[in-house]
Amino acid sequence: MRLVFMGLPGAGKGTQAKLLHEHFRIVHISTGDMIRERIRSGTPTGLKAEPYVACGDLVPDAIMVDMVIERLGEPDARAGFLLDGFPRTQAQAEALDRSLAAAGHTLDAVIVLDVPDDTVVDRLSGRRTCGNPNCQANYHVRTIPPKIEGKCDRCGSTLLQRDDDKPEAIRRRLQQYHRQTEEVAKYYGTRGVVSKVSGVGSVEMVHQRLREVLVNKGCSA
Ligand code: AMP
Repeated sequence: MRLVFMGLPGAGKGTQAKLLHEHFRIVHISTGDMIRERIRSGTPTGLKAEPYVACGDLVPDAIMVDMVIERLGEPDARAGFLLDGFPRTQAQAEALDRSLAAAGHTLDAVIVLDVPDDTVVDRLSGRRTCGNPNCQANYHVRTIPPKIEGKCDRCGSTLLQRDDDKPEAIRRRLQQYHRQTEEVAKYYGTRGVVSKVSGVGSVEMVHQRLREVLVNKGCSA
């Protein structure tokens, strides 16, 4: 299965994609995670991307497209993948189409995780992430607080607020989604591959909804 997972930042794509990976063993490719890893390691791509990510802007298409196409060529992704956070622009969607077509493939489904703006603002502004790169557990100051304030329950490291979860960056990320990424959802909509799934409710409820959709599309555990 070749799947694209779309939705506002904070819609829960990362959390749900991890659960779908565990259930269906499908390879989860998160462009946000890939970029953050390159920034942490100080690679040339990370250095170029850092200022965009820090203020909530999109990283230029050329950087993202090269990074994703290279990743999709790795052996584990050849049989299928769940792309989380890509494509976010029309140019990225077209580059993905070209790359898949060159290998004789197409997308099987595009899942849009649907959550209102107010909900994602609350989720993102309260999100705290474990600063240990090997852990990266997520918390929320109100809904998923750690047992000891500011410390990760799993590894004891300090919890941090991502720069792009600060108010001005959140505003920019939402604007970008509505301005550019919604166009991508419309583009896929014309091909009849889009399924809209409500991302409101508990993590388990949303997971069950997604599982049903993927099973209907032919995914098996
Ligand atoms: P995410 O964790 O998916 O919200 O991504 C975090 C940040 O990484 C975004 O705000 C962008 O700065 C950058 N990023 C991730 N995916 C893309 C993409 N497909 N195109 C451009 N920038 C991206």
